[in-house]
Amino acid sequence: MKLVVLGAGESGVGTAILGKQKGYKVFVSDKGTIAEKYKKVLLNNNISFEEGIHTEAKIFDSDVVMKSPGIPDKAPLIVELKQKGIRVISEIEFASKYTNGIIVGITGSNGKTTTTMLVNHILTQANLNVGMGGNIGESFAEQVAEHHFDIHVLELSSFQLDGIEKFAPHIAIITNISPDHLDRYEYKYENYINSKFRITENQTENDFLIYDADDEEIIKYLSKNKVKATLLPFSLTKKVKQGAYIKDKNIIIKYKNEETIMGISTLALKGKHNTKNAMAAAMTASLLKVRKDLIRESLEDFEGAEHRLEPVLKINGVHYINDSKATNVNATYYALDSVKTPTVWIVGGVDKGNDYLDLMPMVREKVKAIICLGVENKKIIQTFNNVVDLIVETAGAEEAVKVAYKIAEKGDTVLLSPACASFDLFENYEDRGNQFKKAVREL
Ligand code: ADP
Repeated sequence: MKLVVLGAGESGVGTAILGKQKGYKVFVSDKGTIAEKYKKVLLNNNISFEEGIHTEAKIFDSDVVMKSPGIPDKAPLIVELKQKGIRVISEIEFASKYTNGIIVGITGSNGKTTTTMLVNHILTQANLNVGMGGNIGESFAEQVAEHHFDIHVLELSSFQLDGIEKFAPHIAIITNISPDHLDRYEYKYENYINSKFRITENQTENDFLIYDADDEEIIKYLSKNKVKATLLPFSLTKKVKQGAYIKDKNIIIKYKNEETIMGISTLALKGKHNTKNAMAAAMTASLLKVRKDLIRESLEDFEGAEHRLEPVLKINGVHYINDSKATNVNATYYALDSVKTPTVWIVGGVDKGNDYLDLMPMVREKVKAIICLGVENKKIIQTFNNVVDLIVETAGAEEAVKVAYKIAEKGDTVLLSPACASFDLFENYEDRGNQFKKAVREL
């Protein structure tokens, strides 16, 4: 059998290694340049590859093609492959066939990484043989090739889910749905929602779907479509029969006759959104039979993920928080919601079609100044200039932090939560977050 791998990043190289191990004749093709570290891996494993070009004759001469998540379905090469009747699948589809481990798949618009890390943390503390992968860390395919995990906790983007045929996680989580990446879905929100729900399409009655029952889009979808998996909703606002809900400042996790209770105030991660992430993670751990006290302890001592509402420093009574990973309005909504003090808000970058109106009530209530950190800030200024007295445009993290330092007073919070991608001024959101932290530390 011939396997062609398109794209030589983490998931492509992982797939190539697994494919080779399983007896495929593997060819890797990347139209860009391949990073040195991946080239080395391919060479060490004797896997043939090309870069800077897609040689069609070789690509069309394949039984199955693994497409990396970064390549859009509408790329001419992909369209042609499909026309020729050649299977085009994603890494998770390819790799899941080769593991008997339990799969926990986590998708959603926001909170994937945090929830994935939370689940992994609890299961690791419980001494289970668990591997964390997908969009985070090592690729799933490489894990399947090189380890024998009993449980795989996978962060899944909609792009990974677009390329599945039989992939079926035993436990699926949809953290929430809000518009994102619509450029890859013909600008149709519905297509993006359907893509997220593919996580459950091959699940059976013996599997579980954990989801946010306060999320309108999710509820709408579930009212119109039949899902085979056992449904386990979580909600901050209403009681559910089975799943997770809030009672008297406690989280209740309930499945059949089992009930786990934990205080919201004891959770390591603050903010409503993180309470939801904790609910989803605790529900998962409880389905996997982790002891209740261990679940509680793990959620208490979890150290948050970098760049996600990450406390940086307190200087002159002002808290500096790095939420650089907030690249859409929904994520920033929860950041602003979680801050309880007057706020100097650093926002902006590459806007993916933002509608800032959702943020208006919170901005009115607590934002005393806006510092724009982007090349194009017109929309932000237009939206908020009647609401916030002070709006300043800056062109770099250091300048933004210095301006924030001048404005903020004792008891305030300086919050970097951009609601935008970072590519105008930074390499990526990590770079933006790191530059922000560096500037704060140098104040
Ligand atoms: P993802 O991997 O889906 O991008 P992250 O865990 O990296 O999610 O978080 C991305 C951003 O969204 C951060 O700013 C974080 O504070 C915020 N966030 C985390 N969990 C949620 C949630 N459940 N709902 C909304 N926003 C969230």
